Amino acid sequence: MIGILGGTFDPVHIGHLRTALDVFEALQLESLRFVPLGNAVHREPPVFSAEKRLAMLRAAIEGQPGFEVDERELNSGEPSYTVTTLESLRSELGDEVPLCLLMGRDAFAAFHTWREPHRILRLAHLVVMERPGETLYMEGPLEALAEGRITASVDDLSHSPAGRILFLPVTQLDISATDIRARLKAGRSVRWLVPERVRVLLEE
Ligand code: ATP
Repeated sequence: MIGILGGTFDPVHIGHLRTALDVFEALQLESLRFVPLGNAVHREPPVFSAEKRLAMLRAAIEGQPGFEVDERELNSGEPSYTVTTLESLRSELGDEVPLCLLMGRDAFAAFHTWREPHRILRLAHLVVMERPGETLYMEGPLEALAEGRITASVDDLSHSPAGRILFLPVTQLDISATDIRARLKAGRSVRWLVPERVRVLLEE
């Protein structure tokens, strides 16, 4: 199984990294690909440049076996949609390998508003990481999308290429890139919220 964690990584922080490692271990993934967002569609453009976000991400995961940076969105020049990224990955990896799309609960709460969510579920499983302060009430279109797909079993994910949804408890770290950017702006330290190498790049 291969994991995919898309994000702005503006900047990457230990909330991303530790939770990604929790999922990597719980699901015994072959690899976990961090996919930095290229051209924002649903949100404000990132504060840090693509080059800087990429450099910070590379520095952050260096030395962790199985963790990789996937630059396809940064190189595409097109607006970034998860469905397009997954299609591109599928064409490389084939139809059989289980793909697990990781996201925090906050991201999952808006999943029904993403482009072609049904198609995304034909391309990958969803692994939803519990995030502090996020209580999820599924209703309406999100509930309809999730119907019949939720599982508590990692085996269910490894036995099919796509289409299941797993909620996974992970280390609860109340850290966000928004908070880190606010601290930087206020001239405060971000030490121990991001890996040391990322801190050096942020403060240079
Ligand atoms: P921002 O504060 O700028 O919105 P962010 O910290 O939420 O950024 P993103 O790059 O947007 O980071 O997040 C990428 C993915 O990682 C999303 O699915 C998000 O839910 C998840 N994520 C980010 N931080 C955490 C955390 N502390 N715990 C669990 N999941 C997280």
